[in-house]
Amino acid sequence: MSASVGLDSLDKASFIDETTSGEKQKSNNLGIQFLDYILPRSEVTGHRELHLIPLTVEKFVGKALYPLYKLQSGGSVPAKYKRYEEVVQRIGKALATESPRKGLDFEFAVVNDWSHNAWCLPGGKIAMNLGMLNAMENDTRDYGDSLPTFEEKVAAVLSHEITHATARHFGRTMEFKIFMGACIKATQFFISSYVKSHYDKKIEAIKSSSSTVMQVTGMSGSDKKIKEIEKQKASSLKSIQRLFNFFVRNIASGIGKCKSRTHELEADKYGMILLHQAGKKNLAGLNTESARSAIWLQSFFIQHSPPSKPGFFDWLTSLISTHPSSHERLAANKKTWEALQG
Ligand SMILES: [Zn+2]
Repeated sequence: MSASVGLDSLDKASFIDETTSGEKQKSNNLGIQFLDYILPRSEVTGHRELHLIPLTVEKFVGKALYPLYKLQSGGSVPAKYKRYEEVVQRIGKALATESPRKGLDFEFAVVNDWSHNAWCLPGGKIAMNLGMLNAMENDTRDYGDSLPTFEEKVAAVLSHEITHATARHFGRTMEFKIFMGACIKATQFFISSYVKSHYDKKIEAIKSSSSTVMQVTGMSGSDKKIKEIEKQKASSLKSIQRLFNFFVRNIASGIGKCKSRTHELEADKYGMILLHQAGKKNLAGLNTESARSAIWLQSFFIQHSPPSKPGFFDWLTSLISTHPSSHERLAANKKTWEALQG
C-alpha cells in the first residue's frame, strides 16, 4: 500500500480498510497472505485483482512491439519538430519516477502521426503523436476553466498513458479474456454434456425395450426412432454451439468494451493523481495546479472531435465504443480535481 499514489485523498475507504486494528491483521495474517498471493492489491487502485500475466511478459510484449508500432505510426518526426521530443522525454521521465508500480521500463517517443492521439504498450512503452502535440501547443483557449502550460498539457496525456501501464490494463484485459473464455467453454461443455446424456438415455431406453421385439421382427420402427433422436441430438448440440458463438461474438465483446471504457476512466483518474503527486514535488516544473490540465484536455478533445450531443445519443455511442465520451470524461475529471482539492 505504501506504493499507492495519493489514495489518502480519494480512496479513504480502502486506505482505512488496510490500516485498521493491527491485532485483527495479525490474527488474519495467514489468510491475508494467502489472499495477497491469489488476489494481490493493485499498486495503483488498491483493489484486489487476479494477477496471471507476470511483469516479465508485459515487458517482453512492450519491448518487442514498440519499434514496430513506432514505425507503423509514422516513425521519427522531422527535424523542425524535434523540440517536442525533449518535452515529452523530460515530462515523461519525471512522471515515471512517481510511478506507484516499480520495475517497468518506461520509454517515451514522439511519432510522425498527425492524428490527435497517444498510445501505450504494456511495460511502459509510450508514444505521443506529432499532430496532438502541435494542436495542443497552438490551442490557447481556456475552455472556461484554466489554460495550462504546454508542459502541463503534455503531462495530462502522459500521466494517462503511464497509468495504462502501471494499472496493468493490458494484463488485466488478457486475464479477463482468459477468464471469460474458460467460463464460456466450461458452461458450454456442461450444457452440451447434459443434452448429450439426455438423448443417449432415450436411445438406450428404446434399445433395451426393443431388443426382444427385434429378435422376432428384425429391423423395426425402433431403428427409425433412434435415428430420429440422433438427429435431434445433433441439431440440439449445433444450436448450443451457435448460441455460444453468438455469446462470444456479441455479449462477451460488449463486456470487453465496457471493461475498456472502465480502464480509460481509471487511467484518467489515477493519471491525475500521479500528475498531482509530481506537481506537489515540483518535478519538471509541474505544480499543485497542474493536474487541472486533465480537464482542459477533455475540452480540447470535445472541441477537436466531430460534433456530438451530450445526452442520450452520446451515451448510446459510448456503449459501442471502447472509449467513454469526452463529455463523460470531462465530468469525471472535474470530480477528481475537486477530490484532489478536498
Ligand atoms: Zn487511454
